[in-house]
Amino acid sequence: MDGKAKTRPSDFAIVGGPRLLEAELPVGQLYFPPWDAYEREMRSIFSRDYYTNHGPLVRELEQRLEAFLGVRHALTVSNATVGLYLVTKALDLSGSVIVPAFTFVATAQAMSWAGVDVAFCEVEADTHQISPLTAEAARQAGATAVVGVNLWGGSCGPAALQGWAESHGLELLFDSAHAFGCETNAGPIGRFGHAEVFSFHATKVVSSMEGGCIATDDDELAEQIRNMRSNYGIRSARDVPLTINARMSEAQAAVAMLSLSDLARRRSHNEALWRRYQQRLASVPGISINPPASVTHSNYQSLVCEVDEAVFGISRDGLRAVLKAEGVAARRYFFPGVHRTIPYCRSHPQSTEALPVTDSLCARVLQLPIGARVKERDVDAVSQLIADVQTFARDLAVAVR
Ligand SMILES: *Cc1c(COP(=O)(O)O)cnc(C)c1O
Repeated sequence: MDGKAKTRPSDFAIVGGPRLLEAELPVGQLYFPPWDAYEREMRSIFSRDYYTNHGPLVRELEQRLEAFLGVRHALTVSNATVGLYLVTKALDLSGSVIVPAFTFVATAQAMSWAGVDVAFCEVEADTHQISPLTAEAARQAGATAVVGVNLWGGSCGPAALQGWAESHGLELLFDSAHAFGCETNAGPIGRFGHAEVFSFHATKVVSSMEGGCIATDDDELAEQIRNMRSNYGIRSARDVPLTINARMSEAQAAVAMLSLSDLARRRSHNEALWRRYQQRLASVPGISINPPASVTHSNYQSLVCEVDEAVFGISRDGLRAVLKAEGVAARRYFFPGVHRTIPYCRSHPQSTEALPVTDSLCARVLQLPIGARVKERDVDAVSQLIADVQTFARDLAVAVR
């Protein structure tokens, strides 16, 4: 890498200077198994002539996930979006379900596919997480259930949310797509509410090259979901509302197990990078890093910062454009807020202008590269670059306008 400090405004790639990084530095965990291990797994699948329909690798993975999460049932699925849909359908939820507007669109979309109405709520400005306080207005407006979303390798404080939901008779499930392997002072993520759903997408800390799992301690709910997950059904038959194909394949399960076996190493790598960013960016005015909220153990799968334009001297979007030109793929998760996306901006116009905390976060938050593809020297280069952007913010603000 050729990370040279920028000493003049004309040094920046966005105004024609040399690019800092040749290959783009991605945001997202991007786990790839070692090729040899992958090949071994695929040969073994080929030798069995069996690559889907709840094969031996999927069964083994589910057992390993149950042991890892300390949960009675881990049900693998083709992705977390379908997992959220399955839980919602299996719980037979109706009416409206509280969803924080500051989340990935899939949280709300899954509710819509399951045929329930979405009631958007705010998140806490400092932690970015849903809380009983931010969800209370939607509850008073008549919601029957709530989706707790655990964001950024942190948590929304699931025990408190559960206490609040129980005291008001609300059903509770969790989108824990970001929180695999995280622990709170009330126990590990995976055992709160009726069920918690994890994603094994490329951007997440455990990857199966698409996949996810539903964790639950509820035997009957698990059996319902097993019946719904496959149009072909397994184990004891149940009357279920609908079935779908949400199966994980053997190839995906193989990758998930390789990823799981390597998780502790990647987690420490993430943590080292996270701490390095924190140290390097501490002195940059207008940039603040959001630590993983309400956890005693994080997977550090995200590096989330907020850009205060008034102090930094250039907007979040301006910074993002400058970084992109240098080969740093900073991302705006989440933008726009789900309440401003189709179909919700049309079906829920009352929410569009009613969520100022979410709107403000959507304009400030930026994700920086962290994960398996990122090295410590990349963190140094990106941090130096951001410091340089701040130094020349006035000049660059004109260029990105
Ligand atoms: C990634 C993600 C999902 C969706 O996961 P998939 O496995 O891609 O369906 C849902 N919610 C959140 C918060 C996510 O980040």
